[in-house]
Amino acid sequence: MTQTGHHRNINAGNKNNIMQNTSKDHAKLAQQFNKDEERVDWHDETLWWIRQKRDKAAHGIAEWEALRETASQIKNNVLANLSGYLIQFEENLKANSVIVHWAADAQEHNEIVYSILQKHGVNRMMKSKSMLTEECHLNEFLEEKKIEVIDTDLGERIVQLAEEPPSHIVLPCIHKQKEEIGQLFHEMLGTPAGNSDPQFLTSVAREHMRDTFLTRKVALTGVNFAVAETGEIVVCTNEGNADMGVHLADVHIACMGIEKIIPLRKHLGYFLRLLTRSATGQPITTYSSHFKKPRKGKEMHVVLVDNGRSVHLGKADFRNSLKCIRCAACFNTCPVYIRSGGHSYHTAVAGPIGSILAPNLDLKKYADLPFASTLCGSCSNVCPVKIDIHDQLYKWRQVLVKEGYAPAAKKIGMQGMSFTLSSPSVYHIAGKAGRWFMRNTPFILNNDLNPWYKQREMPEPPKQSFTDWYKKNRKK
Ligand code: SF4
Repeated sequence: MTQTGHHRNINAGNKNNIMQNTSKDHAKLAQQFNKDEERVDWHDETLWWIRQKRDKAAHGIAEWEALRETASQIKNNVLANLSGYLIQFEENLKANSVIVHWAADAQEHNEIVYSILQKHGVNRMMKSKSMLTEECHLNEFLEEKKIEVIDTDLGERIVQLAEEPPSHIVLPCIHKQKEEIGQLFHEMLGTPAGNSDPQFLTSVAREHMRDTFLTRKVALTGVNFAVAETGEIVVCTNEGNADMGVHLADVHIACMGIEKIIPLRKHLGYFLRLLTRSATGQPITTYSSHFKKPRKGKEMHVVLVDNGRSVHLGKADFRNSLKCIRCAACFNTCPVYIRSGGHSYHTAVAGPIGSILAPNLDLKKYADLPFASTLCGSCSNVCPVKIDIHDQLYKWRQVLVKEGYAPAAKKIGMQGMSFTLSSPSVYHIAGKAGRWFMRNTPFILNNDLNPWYKQREMPEPPKQSFTDWYKKNRKK
């Protein structure tokens, strides 16, 4: 019932290929996803259904906008005083007998986790969902060191068995249909072929995990909120897997980005009310677990990770994206995300917020992502901490053009448009020429080199331009 070493190695390699695929950009990967029309429709409808649940939950609270504003201001305060809150948090962690580690980047984070495992002579670890460890590629790093990592969140475990990265930060396997999961369980866990009943598959997964929970000495969790005032961390799950893992293990390692801080315990109320309503439309997560100190004879570690965050903090136009509480509401409402799938973003955190965070880590590698948006603003409208997401995407585009990372075709196209639209006479001549070509040589436009034509019929050219019509009619 457990993974083989062989399988784990393939797993690491395949995941790396998907996540570090630099030869394909978002548009090309989205095109691949779009080949399966049925999947796109279903993905689109499912995420829209979740968006509607979010709307219902938000509208059910009269003070929703006040909650958003308060949470946004609390996070603004955190970002303005981050170093002070981090020092306070560290002092309180130490006072609670928690061992504190600081990691400047992903490599250091991975080395720290590995050193803790080595210290305890452990080569098997369980992990509850943590997007930070996805960002740092911890699983792949540990698997190379022959450490077995089992993800205990059901969705995460499914994508782990399928040798894929998560495609969504809250719903990691949302791109998979239940029949595919049934087939996967059949191949990997030996369930009867053709059985994709969700209740049955969940019971099998529970059985499969039980051995993991009972035998692993180290449990790693993510962190949703870190309270500076008390030195406690809060982890939100719907499955209780973080609690189960930590309570049965001797060592708890909690890994968090440095922006997860909130100043006071009483602030939790605002964030917990916003988080799950925004994520899935639930009033609250099934488990909001507080971890403050190790039990007698046990160990608790907190790893505080920068990995580009302090650089991001220094960028005035982009710093407030560090307020993100990873609810994924911006994913579920984004017309591009829901029709292109999470893997098309080729980064751990996909969607609109991922398209802001990733270019900070590597501008060249993620230069395509700020363009994966219609800039419709729906993401900013639903964000529970009021991040101006679409404005920041637009600002990244300007940076990319200035730095010379915009795609050459787009750059040439934009320069052409700028030249044409800046001069009425050039615009007039171009319009005339365009209409003539559309009428007399349609094959020049109606071919596969024209991306617009691939999906749509080209319009009939009008007999005259608006300017001509206006000139004629104004004289009357
Ligand atoms: S940017 Fe806002 S909406 Fe998107 S995941 Fe973060 S908190 Fe949620």
